[in-house]
Amino acid sequence: MKFILEFLRQKVPKQGREMPVYFRRALVSCEWLMAVYLLVSFFLIEVFAHKWTIMPLFLCAGLVACVLNVDRMRVRMNLVLYALTTLVWCGWYINAFGWGIGGQHVLVPLLVLAFFDIYEPPLLKLAYFLLLVLVRMALFYYALRHPATFEVTQTANIVFQMFNSFTYFVILAVLCISFSSSMQDTERQLRIDNQELHKEAGTDPLTRLPNRRAMIDELDLYRRSSPDESFCVAIADIDFFKHVNDTYGHNCGDYTLRALADLFRENAGLKYRVCRWGGEEFCFFFPGMNLDEAGREMLDLNVAVGHMPLSFEGNDFSITITIGVEENDFKSPMESILERADQKLYMGKNSGRNQVVI
Ligand code: GH3
Ligand code: MG
Ligand code: MG
Repeated sequence: MKFILEFLRQKVPKQGREMPVYFRRALVSCEWLMAVYLLVSFFLIEVFAHKWTIMPLFLCAGLVACVLNVDRMRVRMNLVLYALTTLVWCGWYINAFGWGIGGQHVLVPLLVLAFFDIYEPPLLKLAYFLLLVLVRMALFYYALRHPATFEVTQTANIVFQMFNSFTYFVILAVLCISFSSSMQDTERQLRIDNQELHKEAGTDPLTRLPNRRAMIDELDLYRRSSPDESFCVAIADIDFFKHVNDTYGHNCGDYTLRALADLFRENAGLKYRVCRWGGEEFCFFFPGMNLDEAGREMLDLNVAVGHMPLSFEGNDFSITITIGVEENDFKSPMESILERADQKLYMGKNSGRNQVVI
């Protein structure tokens, strides 16, 4: 029941009402199979029932015309023509040879096609389903009341029934393969896109370093998975960065941020993780390290930054950074630890910059 209600609540996509490629492929395959089936039926009727009848050939020609014009007409129009052809064929076939030859089987693929048409509302699909059931019942009732127009021998009966069953299964199999493989492809692509989006959402576009959000996720995860492990965090800020922007331009400022990020990346190895915390600030995470170890790493990095040669559009310059380091105390929330690192950073700023405060 819940399943049916969920189906009924489905929303029909509003934009891009062009039928998906896989639907068109499935429909065209069905039309080709049905056309071949009608052509073979024409000969089978001649050979086993000894009747020349133009009806299967006429419908076969109609379907071939549909397939060849699929590019010019809308796919949904094509589907309607396919459904009409199938209905006409069913009516004629059952009227001519009776219910026992299994001509009604070809109605089922119509149902499958309709349910995979993503642009029709669920209620319409349900109405279509009821209509098909009614058509089938009406045909059965009609066949019960009216004897077949043509007498069929038992051999003909068996041949027609087997051929109809075979065609029915082949068409259904083709539909199932088309739709299931397309859904698998779509799902695989969605997973890949989702991973890409997730990665992009956690990456700073300028420096390609993880951003604040990714770092916070990582810190939270570490705390949850290793609650007894020590770790340190550090926040670094470029000294007088405004001066770089004001003197050499904003592009030079961007270049400096990228160059600094490259240095951090090279230096990090397995020792620490670094992210762009925002503006000209970077945050470092040292899993498993105590304050002394993290402080030493930051001192080395501070020296390396001071010696980093920078050159932009013929201007050579250098920068320095100030860093505040804080250790996990196993009781404060993550925000407080980061805040204390920030306070140490500002202590460093107030006492001359270009230093590491531990
Ligand atoms: P302090 O030593 O006190 O940190 O001085 P400061 O000049 O570095 O600090 P302030 O907060 O006054 O200026 C930070 C500057 O960083 C201002 C802002 O324009 C610049 N900035 C922040 N993000 C970017 C960026 O993505 N690109 C560029 N080019 N500049 C940025
Ligand atoms: Mg600064
Ligand atoms: Mg700043």
